[in-house]
Amino acid sequence: MNDRILHEVDNALAVVAEQPASSIQRQTSTRPSFSSMSQAIVTLNVGPNESCFHVHRDLLMYYSPYFKAAFNSSFKEAQERPIPIPDVKVSTFNMFMDWIYTERLPRTKKEVDETGAVGGRELISSYTGLEFAELYIFADMYDVPVLRRQVMDRIFAASVLPKYAVVVLAFSRLPTSAPLCRFFVDVYCQRFRESDDDESERKQREKLPHEFLLGVMLRHAKIMGRLRAKEMLPSYKLNMCDYHEHETEEERQLCLSERQPK
Ligand SMILES: [Zn+2]
Repeated sequence: MNDRILHEVDNALAVVAEQPASSIQRQTSTRPSFSSMSQAIVTLNVGPNESCFHVHRDLLMYYSPYFKAAFNSSFKEAQERPIPIPDVKVSTFNMFMDWIYTERLPRTKKEVDETGAVGGRELISSYTGLEFAELYIFADMYDVPVLRRQVMDRIFAASVLPKYAVVVLAFSRLPTSAPLCRFFVDVYCQRFRESDDDESERKQREKLPHEFLLGVMLRHAKIMGRLRAKEMLPSYKLNMCDYHEHETEEERQLCLSERQPK
């Protein structure tokens, strides 16, 4: 069976547990409420056509150390002026806007379509993970760790091999050490079968990044060594927490325990 069948993805997206960001990311401060936050609104010009978005400044600062540092320093005198976000698609930023006010990601293809209304229905003709990968890249560029983790969880829970175009995108825009890149290496090593590739995917193989292929090769050698040593089973599973950027073992254990069925 082809892992990439669309309806499976929709199902996986629909059933994945929605974890509130507050429980998966230990933050030292609490999310500002509408009554307590400053009413200061900042304007962001997104994408090459400079589409205009207005966001509560406190929310941006709460979720993003990048914006926090920026508003506390050099942007300060420029806060009246729109802030350029040139390298992000409007459809990606729409997903971010929905998320920053709700802490929710679209759960199904239909919801992603609706969220991406400005981007048009071509946003997704079939689910490839591309939209979430683009959101992850945004969360990496503008440092939104809670969003990175939620997107990572969603991609992990979809449990499908990403299309090669998504792999190419991730490795071209993220450091090789980024959890999403590591996950793509790990999941290909774990699940890829020759029969997974149709004709169009086979044609994409030549574009695969060296770092990705090297990662799969090294990971494969490591896994084979552990299998031979009987340190793991051939049916091994990947652990979501390996891609969570936990800062301490304690935080990791807490995250694991929160995901155990009660
Ligand atoms: Zn975790």
